[in-house]
Amino acid sequence: MTQESAVRTVRQYSAKPISGEDMEKLLEIAGDYRRVKNYVYERYGGIGSLGKLYPGYTVQNEMTVCGLRAELGMPSVYYYRAVFDALGDIKSQWTRTKTAMRKAAARNENLTEADRHYLRFLLKVNNAFEAVLNEKLPEGKPSGLPEAVQAQCDALAEASDVRRVHGYLRRQVRKHQVKLSTERADGFGVTERAYRYADHGIYLATKRSRQRVFLPLTDSRQYTGQLYVKLFPREQRAEIMAAVRVRVKNHPDYTNRVGIALGMKTMLTTQEGHRYGTEFGTLHTEYAEWLREQSSVYRRNRADNAGRKKYTAKKHRKEERLHSYINQQLNLFLQNEKPETVCMVKLPPPKAGGVNRKINYSVSVWQRGYIRKRLLQKCREQSVEVVEVLGKGIGTECSRCGASGSVEGERFRCASCGYEADEKTNAAANALKRAGEGQIKIIGTGDSDK
Ligand SMILES: [Zn+2]
Repeated sequence: MTQESAVRTVRQYSAKPISGEDMEKLLEIAGDYRRVKNYVYERYGGIGSLGKLYPGYTVQNEMTVCGLRAELGMPSVYYYRAVFDALGDIKSQWTRTKTAMRKAAARNENLTEADRHYLRFLLKVNNAFEAVLNEKLPEGKPSGLPEAVQAQCDALAEASDVRRVHGYLRRQVRKHQVKLSTERADGFGVTERAYRYADHGIYLATKRSRQRVFLPLTDSRQYTGQLYVKLFPREQRAEIMAAVRVRVKNHPDYTNRVGIALGMKTMLTTQEGHRYGTEFGTLHTEYAEWLREQSSVYRRNRADNAGRKKYTAKKHRKEERLHSYINQQLNLFLQNEKPETVCMVKLPPPKAGGVNRKINYSVSVWQRGYIRKRLLQKCREQSVEVVEVLGKGIGTECSRCGASGSVEGERFRCASCGYEADEKTNAAANALKRAGEGQIKIIGTGDSDK
């Protein structure tokens, strides 16, 4: 059996303001990086290039001879990173398109069961998929596939309406594939050959040979593999992101099924009324109030650049403090409750637009997203299953008898059976109950990646 692992993104921060000159050199790479990516999107994003995407050597070779690298004067360590970065985006876009098509096909009533079978085959076998899209189809169906696959393809095609399926496939691709491009030039990927950790910081290669930019970092951890450098020119700082594979821990003693409710006052409450992050509300209100004060100060002194920088640095520190509290409390929750399964309400998708007007609101929405993200990540890393349930009416339903009750302050009361409890405890118990009844939205298990 293979050892399960999960990917965790870790960040490092520049320790000192980055000089204008150094920032210029880094932005130059970011600008070129964007150009290369957009070039690759443009040239290989269409259906005509499907055959070149796997395994990608053709693209690499073509990008070597196309002259773009020489034109930009870009070090190869960055150039090829940008190429593969863009190729990765193109591949994930195809994956998304295929997923959308699978779902659409399952709902489409004009397709027979045999049509769907054939379609699923086409979505799975890259060569066949490409052949259909590029219409290189002498006998109406894909040919030239490996023997066993060809036999399967022929049998499936025989049983279905090939014209209908192919037409459907082409239309769906046109519908779901969007043209990729990036406007952002605020960062770049770095391969191992382009950086070196030393002297409590990191040396990054630039476009001039032997002229490295040195960034002192706030910690002395050293990562290997690919990194991503994100630039914040106005704030004169940078973040280094590294993807770390962590081994998934299995806890044989984690055997409980735990329902939880997240809140803005107490961060997390279980169905037994155990509370984690009881200081969260206070810390969070302080932070939100500070932000609001600062934003009115900022409006008055818009031109004050130095003040702005100080503000950003302080905001960053405050945020870090809040996050370290959240993480510490989530760890405590897992250690104490020893859950095999955590049942919680699925978060509604974020509403588009209008969020920034009320700063308190936007901050709280954002922190809630952060708590969830961290909880899901920690569960993945410790092979704790997460079951997300539908949240409609979960706060006002009685977890004991199912009748509708009322919430006053933070107390839940059921007039029907007399049950009375803390509102969050009742909601957590409902989450647990709904998970058992199968009112489940998504089941997330300890699968790796993303
Ligand atoms: Zn009741």
